[in-house]
Amino acid sequence: MKRAAKRQTDPQRLRPGACCTICGGALYPGDRYWQVNGVRSCESCLAELARAEFAGHAVICGEGERL
Ligand SMILES: [Zn+2]
Repeated sequence: MKRAAKRQTDPQRLRPGACCTICGGALYPGDRYWQVNGVRSCESCLAELARAEFAGHAVICGEGERL
């Protein structure tokens, strides 16, 4: 059985450039992430980060400011 030569650009073989602060997932060169107040968030954790960052702006309908 022949072994296929793996390309050097295989993302699995690259060393992560950073890690997501929330889930600890690896961030590879070229990956998009968000850096907010010292927290690094991968794409999957963005909703969680936004929820935490905007928690102070949450309004319950019927209990918040009147328009
Ligand atoms: Zn993450």
